[in-house]
Amino acid sequence: MAKKKTVYLCQNCGAESSKWIGRCPYCGEWNTYKEETIHPSKGESQPSFAGSSPSISPLSEISLEHEQRLSTRYDEVDRVLGGGMVPGSLVLIGGEPGIGKSTLALQVALRAKGVKVLYVSGEESLKQLKLRSDRMEEHNNEVYLLNETGLEEIVQQAEDFKPDLMIIDSIQTLFSSQFESAPGSVSQVRQAATRLLYFAKSSGIPILTIGHINKEGSIAGPKVLEHIVDVVLQFEGDHNYVYRVLRSLKNRFGSTNELGIFEMRQAGLQEVTNPSRLLVNQFHDDLSGIAIASTLDGIRPFLVEIQSLVSPSSYGTPQRNTTGFDTRRLSMLLAVLEKRAKLHLYNKDVFLNLAGGIRVTDPAIDLAILASLLSSLMDKPLGAKTCFAGEVGLSGEIRAVNQIEKRVQEADKLGYQQIYLSQYNNLQKAPGNIALRYVNTVGELMAKLFKG
Ligand SMILES: [Zn+2]
Repeated sequence: MAKKKTVYLCQNCGAESSKWIGRCPYCGEWNTYKEETIHPSKGESQPSFAGSSPSISPLSEISLEHEQRLSTRYDEVDRVLGGGMVPGSLVLIGGEPGIGKSTLALQVALRAKGVKVLYVSGEESLKQLKLRSDRMEEHNNEVYLLNETGLEEIVQQAEDFKPDLMIIDSIQTLFSSQFESAPGSVSQVRQAATRLLYFAKSSGIPILTIGHINKEGSIAGPKVLEHIVDVVLQFEGDHNYVYRVLRSLKNRFGSTNELGIFEMRQAGLQEVTNPSRLLVNQFHDDLSGIAIASTLDGIRPFLVEIQSLVSPSSYGTPQRNTTGFDTRRLSMLLAVLEKRAKLHLYNKDVFLNLAGGIRVTDPAIDLAILASLLSSLMDKPLGAKTCFAGEVGLSGEIRAVNQIEKRVQEADKLGYQQIYLSQYNNLQKAPGNIALRYVNTVGELMAKLFKG
């Protein structure tokens, strides 16, 4: 029998050490080292990903024809994947527990008509899955369930069954007999991901696996997982809202700036094809602190409502509270207002929300955020038919943003009458009827918004 080996593994990044360490020297996290016992590999060597013996081929003769992608029949999911699932790819969907990852995975299985799907569940019993699938609108007779957590057994079953698509819920429940540590520990998760990746590459079967996120936000605790898989999708949203966002964090086969939006309903997740209509409240003509940003996810423009509340601070340290927006970015914008517009905000509490609990990282929402803050500070509404698209620099200048035509078009399409944008985004002619309001600096924005 092979000799056992005890090591300490960082549960965040997978770094190995022969003794316990308080702080990981690789990822900087505290208290992440745990003792794990591993058996040396039982002579099972990991062959090359090509499936056969490796050989050298000329680049010019490599054919791309086999890259026929498998459509999930879910436009939003396909788009985020970069056009469907690549054969032999390992895709990870990460997210907080309870956010709806299993619902999404089950719906992908149910929608994929004509595709033989093997759904492996270590989280729920077959009866629970059946109950959940009955609540959904889609039905697919080609979905097969397997209730198993043994990694070797799952791979063996899948090899015999030969599905077109395999779904694993979740990678943290898988257990390899080669390791003594508990399911969900770094050595188990790493082994499961490596084994599944090898199985996907050698069989050509695409695998979609769910991974739970820890509270720090990294996928599945162990960062190692992100390095092994081909695609990392993050499913996020606020538990208090019905909207969910599927975002691509890593994609070996496509772009990472695509984003899909879903609405959580009784019957499952519904794709939101026109987010602007949902993310903008129509009834606030006379409220201050509200501004509309024309933002972009990947290639698709949409409008999102920003609400802010600036009020005198009653305690020593003023509060800075945001939902859906980076707090550090807000501090920077407030500093710009202090310094460049001579406004006193150091004694004010600032609360900022993006409607629907959606998180936006597009820098072009800066201008709308400034406008919203100014509107709340002065208690003057901006008017419901006005929107914004521009980045704000440290010196208070309004910078040009990418794809301005699309942003302006979307605003026009939704009936907005004017859009504020950077002077450097000079458009020859406005598409449609919308008026273009060019601004150069924060001071100019204030003057134009609150003239008289
Ligand atoms: Zn570490």
